[in-house]
Amino acid sequence: MRALVFEEFGGPLTVREVPDPTPAPDGVVVTVGATGVCRSDWHAWSGHDPDVVLPHVPGHELAGTVAAVGARVRGWSVGDRVTAPFVCACGTCPPCREGAGQVCLRQTQPGFTHWGSFAEYVALDAADINLVALPEELSTATAAALGCRYATAFRAVTGVGRVAPGEWVLVVGCGGVGLSAVQVAVAVGARVVAVDPSPGARELAAATGAEHVLDSADGFVELAVELTGGGVHVGLDCLGSPATCEASIRALRPRGRHVQVGLLPPAQGRAVVPMELVVARELAVLGSHGMAAADYPAMLSMIAAGRLRPQDLVTRELSLDDAAEALVAVGRTPGIAVITRF
Ligand SMILES: [Zn+2]
Ligand SMILES: [Zn+2]
Repeated sequence: MRALVFEEFGGPLTVREVPDPTPAPDGVVVTVGATGVCRSDWHAWSGHDPDVVLPHVPGHELAGTVAAVGARVRGWSVGDRVTAPFVCACGTCPPCREGAGQVCLRQTQPGFTHWGSFAEYVALDAADINLVALPEELSTATAAALGCRYATAFRAVTGVGRVAPGEWVLVVGCGGVGLSAVQVAVAVGARVVAVDPSPGARELAAATGAEHVLDSADGFVELAVELTGGGVHVGLDCLGSPATCEASIRALRPRGRHVQVGLLPPAQGRAVVPMELVVARELAVLGSHGMAAADYPAMLSMIAAGRLRPQDLVTRELSLDDAAEALVAVGRTPGIAVITRF
């Protein structure tokens, strides 16, 4: 198959022929129909993820069609249109038994623990636990984002942040996951303050329903506190950096919830959490790590009802030959980029 390969961290990314994957006994191989270009892929390429073994094929935000099925798989057949969370859960460890497959102790992740979806085919483990059937009306390109950024934002806003109608939500960083968070927060009736250094990203955030859009260069914490009459109820760091994490926490009102959504690998520096504020204001500091397949139906039904429109956030469709350039420049062009030609 054709795949985008790198042999060293931060090194050249080249499309070349590699052996096709074969399914594990409980897994499947999927013909990739679309795969998103996410900041986490950039982290994998940059050497920030200790799971990545070289040479490597990135890509974890995918949708496609089942091409081969392992002997122990019960629920899926060749030809089924599917997506899967980027965290593929084992289904049997303690967190999985509690319905929290997104923090599975034996998780596998395409594009991190094994070769990913910047390729014609990708292997996914524990198919009966992790595959999600795609509704007919959802295009493959749109569905790709559900594997990571859109589902991650959905769970961060609804499940972890427990955003209620009328609450103020701060979204710091309006890349793919940030714009998704803006859309989900607006859909559940929250009022959104969105922050990004890029004018294009701010424009998209405003079009997605953010009430205020702020330039991150302008000391936005004070501004956000002022605009929201004393601070936001929920702050989401959707970029993942020590500065944006701290800013989200400082913008909270008493008893506010910070949700860390963007990855913060130690290689980029440790975040400083102002614990004096966490105590004095009784703040909650929470992490959000994707969304288990079992939690997808609530999101899919809101998409089917037209209350969520992930398709509006896909701004570019690329070919695998463009993937290297898009990956190196991740974050520079607003919206979600999806590879749809292999
Ligand atoms: Zn597990
Ligand atoms: Zn991702």
